[in-house]
This record gives sequence, structure tokens and C-alpha cells, in this order.
Amino acid sequence: MRSGLISGEINQENQAIPTIAPDVSVVVPIHDEVESLPLLLEAIASTLSASQLSYEIICVDDGSTDGSGEFLKKEAQTRNNLKAVILRRNYGQTAAMSAGFNYAIGKAIITLDADLQNDPADIPMLVAKLDEGYDLVSGWRQKRQDGAVNRLLPSKIANWLIRRTTSVNIHDYGCSLKAYRAELVADMHLYGELHRFLPALAYIEGARITEMPVRHHARRFGRSKYGLSRTFRVLMDLLTILFMKKFLTRPMHVFGLLGLISMVSGGLIGIYLTFIKLALGQMIGNRPLLILAVLLLVTGVQLFCFGLLAELLMRTYHESQGRPIYRVREVVAKNVN
Ligand code: UDP
Ligand code: MG
Repeated sequence: MRSGLISGEINQENQAIPTIAPDVSVVVPIHDEVESLPLLLEAIASTLSASQLSYEIICVDDGSTDGSGEFLKKEAQTRNNLKAVILRRNYGQTAAMSAGFNYAIGKAIITLDADLQNDPADIPMLVAKLDEGYDLVSGWRQKRQDGAVNRLLPSKIANWLIRRTTSVNIHDYGCSLKAYRAELVADMHLYGELHRFLPALAYIEGARITEMPVRHHARRFGRSKYGLSRTFRVLMDLLTILFMKKFLTRPMHVFGLLGLISMVSGGLIGIYLTFIKLALGQMIGNRPLLILAVLLLVTGVQLFCFGLLAELLMRTYHESQGRPIYRVREVVAKNVN
């Protein structure tokens, strides 16, 4: 999809695409943010026009029902550097960002939230940092304006965990305001809530990563789309990543080994008991050791099979990476050339 866009042909949605890659593509996932959008577009446009950076804005409407999509389509017909990517339904922030990445043709990619909590005025500073030789610059909301118990605490725990287990020493994984070198996001296969852990994934890919303090504001309009259930999903994704990092290719090594040890010790005890019964003619039915042998054998066999299944699953997982995690309804953009 990416190469088709860069070559400047007409894409499947019949929209002409600019041929020259801008310096910056700003990718914004949007779900029901219609009040914020006019202010957001103005803020991005005025900052970037003043900074001498050429840019495009890619607004991805993630199944909004408040008219955000209609507003974006209208704006995209008149504004020069706005692409409106309308998804078929709500797929979640990660999928929306991933759609944005696919349509972005800039040399640097910026992601930020639509609700004005991130400040577009920080964009030029992040891009300048990329130019120092980094592949990913992550924003750090030093003065985060969100609820303490429902948001700050879980994210503190997640940040701490991920800092401990990867060697990526950044404070605020969850900050949406980030800058990437375009080549980096092109290789990322995102799903679930993985956008939050992009620095960890990027690190596995060998990226040079740094962070910078950025501004953060309280939400002006509407409500956050994240409740406790999302926090749980984020946690599960975190666990998968940690697991992936160590055992991505060989899950069998964990379960298989445990299963094998358990199976072998169960088997040895079993042989010992059989010997006692057959050779010495003693009763074994009332021995705790018998229970242990049976338990070890049963769990051993199960763990071993589980390891095998995990191995197969991982293979399928790798092979299925090409599957899109979102569907696009239409793309609206005015031809700038
Ligand atoms: N968002 C989205 N799809 C969703 C939920 C959220 O595209 O299903 C967008 C939302 O419009 C916003 C960004 O993702 O631009 C972050 O969402 P939100 O502000 O609710 O999260 P928070 O700032 O509370 O982490
Ligand atoms: Mg927000």
C-alpha cells in the first residue's frame, strides 16, 4: 500500500496523492472528537507552517458517531495537506494509528491524540530530536493531567515493569505524542493495545530511542475512551510483549522443559513403585508417592502438549501477520500537486 502511495498514482479510493514526501506526517486517531477537531487542525497547521517543515495531516476516523468523519471529509476537500481516512467501524486506537501509518508518506511520522491533551506546539522539537540521529523520540508527560487512581497508577506500574524488563529507559510509554523515522513504523505489525509499547517493539528491532518532556493538558471536550477494561487489556498486551521478548520463537523451551522434567520424574517414581509392587510384592495403593507420581505424569504430559501447541500457535501467529487489523471505508484528500 505504502509504495503505491509514494509513487503518486490514484489509489483504490480514486483520490489523487501527492508525489513529494513531506518532512512530517502527523497521524491522529479519532473517535468522537468533533468539538476538538477544528482547534486541533488549526494548532497543527499554525505550528508547522511557522516551523518551515513541509507536512501532511492524516486524520483517521475510527468509527465516530458524532459527525467527526463528516467534518474531516469536508475539511479534506478544501485543505491542501489533510487526508481523511475513514474506517468502516471502531477498531481501537492502535488500529487507527496503524491505518494512519499506512497512508503516511512523510519522512518523519508524528502521532498525537485528537483531544488536545497533547500539544501540537511540541512537534518541531520532537522532529529536531530525530534529526540528531534517533529513530524514535517518545514524549514524557511530566505533568500528566489525568485521573490519579484509574490512569496514573496503572500506567506507573506498567512503565516500571517494562523499564525493568527491557533496556529501554523511558518514563512514559503511554504518551501518544511520539516521533518516528518513517522506516521504523513501516515494519511494525500492531494489534491489540500495542501502540503503547511501540518503544519496546522498536527496541527489539534495534531502534535508537530517546524521550523528551512534553506538555500535557486536561481534556477540554468529551470524555476519555479508556475505562478499567482497557487498562486490563493493556496489561495483558504488556505481558504478551514481555513474553515475546524472551520466548518469541521458542515457547516450547518454557512449557516443554517444565513438562519434560515433570514427566520424567513422574515416570521414574512410577517405575520405582512398580518395582516395589512386582519384585517385592508390597502394597503401593496407600502411598502418597503414588499420588505424586500420577500428578507429575499427568501435568507433565499436559504441559508438554501445551508447549507443542504454543509452538504451533507462534508459527501461525508469524504467518498471519499480513492480516489487516482494520478496514478502510474511504479516503478523502485534495490533490496538492
Ligand atoms: N481513540 C480512537 N479509537 C478508540 C479510542 C480512542 O481512535 O477506540 C482516539 C481518541 O479519539 C484520542 C486518542 O485515541 O484521539 C486517545 O484517546 P483518549 O483521549 O480517550 O485516551 P486518554 O488520553 O484518556 O489516554
Ligand atoms: Mg486523551
